[in-house]
Amino acid sequence: MRGDLAVRCACGALRGRALDVHPGATNRVACHCRGCRAYAAHMQREAELFDAHGGMDVFQISPAALVFDDGLEHLGCLRMTPKGALRWHARCCGTPIAGGLDRRGVPFASLHPVCIDRAALSAPLDDYIGPVRVRVNGRFPRREVRALKAGLGALLPMIVRYGAMCLKWIIRGDHRRSPFFDRETARPIVEPTVVGIPPGFE
Ligand SMILES: [Zn+2]
Ligand SMILES: [Zn+2]
Repeated sequence: MRGDLAVRCACGALRGRALDVHPGATNRVACHCRGCRAYAAHMQREAELFDAHGGMDVFQISPAALVFDDGLEHLGCLRMTPKGALRWHARCCGTPIAGGLDRRGVPFASLHPVCIDRAALSAPLDDYIGPVRVRVNGRFPRREVRALKAGLGALLPMIVRYGAMCLKWIIRGDHRRSPFFDRETARPIVEPTVVGIPPGFE
């Protein structure tokens, strides 16, 4: 399936679109790192952000394929550690929107499915974004590594795939058209607030 996805926070104040999304242009991963787990807890959104295996389910698209139409003033930016990923969210209602890096030279926006307006889709979201390709940053029972797509056998093809997508986006200049970075200064449009990871997240 291929098409634009409506992006909206829970209260509807922040709205946008993910353009021309299809399984060939997205890279869906589940991250089990402590930063993701602490972020979900901080936002009190564990139930919505994690999949059945306890990973944060995100799908990476080109940053240029994400546009905001309304309510950009509600966009907030957190990071769990001073050098951690940027975690863009809607401050109006606390809806996580997307993750990414703090420099635009490695372009991607990792969208949280929770911010996609599924009621506006003509097919299940999975048809647009494809399956989870790999689980990263977790400890998995050895017997289940393969079934969970958690090992090197799943990671390497994902890295190759993402590398090719990323190169295409950079050649196209997509990194300069990220909604999260000022076009002139290349700085994040909102200064990230460092939250810190509380004890208990290992
Ligand atoms: Zn909102
Ligand atoms: Zn993570």
